Amino acid sequence: MNTPDTTTEAHANTRPSAADDLPDYAPIPRPALGPALNEQGYYVGRVERNLYWVTDGTYQSAFLTTTDGVVLLDAPPTIGHNIQRAVDEIASANGVSNRVAHLVYSHHHADHAGASSLFNGDIARIGHEETRNLLLRDDDPARPAPEETFGDRRTLEIGGQRIELVWHGANHSPDNIFIHLPDHDTLMLVDIVNPGWAPVYQSNLTEDVQGYIEATDTALGYPWKHFIGGHMGRLGTRDDIAVHQQYMDDIVASSRTALDTVDPTPYFVKYGENTWAAVRGYLDAVTATAATPVIEKYTGVLASADVFTASTTFHVMQSLRLDLGYGSQVHP
Ligand SMILES: [Zn+2]
Repeated sequence: MNTPDTTTEAHANTRPSAADDLPDYAPIPRPALGPALNEQGYYVGRVERNLYWVTDGTYQSAFLTTTDGVVLLDAPPTIGHNIQRAVDEIASANGVSNRVAHLVYSHHHADHAGASSLFNGDIARIGHEETRNLLLRDDDPARPAPEETFGDRRTLEIGGQRIELVWHGANHSPDNIFIHLPDHDTLMLVDIVNPGWAPVYQSNLTEDVQGYIEATDTALGYPWKHFIGGHMGRLGTRDDIAVHQQYMDDIVASSRTALDTVDPTPYFVKYGENTWAAVRGYLDAVTATAATPVIEKYTGVLASADVFTASTTFHVMQSLRLDLGYGSQVHP
């Protein structure tokens, strides 16, 4: 038996016995992809001067080499031990220290911080105070809580390098911060924009949709040329942020139109006392109506627009209803 989940794209059979029976999707636009990985499965490249980024093709980490050791920005477990290999490679090529002395957490999630405990001993862990609270709550030995915390903002001066950490409110997670490197023309903001790609499920698994949407305006308010988004195989540009903003704007506009036009009556007539069946039928229809034109517009523009747009549309549409009260009616 197949249980379709229409908050994602529904397919006839999600557990076929052969790969050939799995659904096909649109080809990935070439500009979505980044540089080739080495034999160990990573790529390390210079962002600007002594700032470097590392990717495994899906996740990203970054680091600064300084006279006071290396400052690591996130430690995704999928890159894992390749983080130190990348640091070693750069440090030996440049004759600088390979000792990771500082680790900055972008937010508390395990997929970006789960290799943190590989870096132990004499290391300063730095993060937002809510990152500390959440990591203490979650009690995962792979992610030691930061001891050096801040509230709204903190400027780090490490080995002559400046890193500005700013919390602008909840977005993807309650604790997700902006990491601005003004002397390297770079902004690191994780799990908001995946350059070249559509967001994964539900606006990149975002907890606060309105904060998520606002975060890109905030990002563009900073001066920078290079964007480290935490995901996929390449760095981003200001144009990548603009394309993502248009995509989200289109989802919002299309969701409003669908909420205005899809008639709920048939679902409630059909399902009678099974209210949840009616709600599901109606909201699934709103989602499909809203997502279809967006998928058409962005196929070939953003990789996997056909894979995840319906999921994000469902999520955004719920935020329109629940956060903004769109379509809410008071019983007469
Ligand atoms: Zn996350």
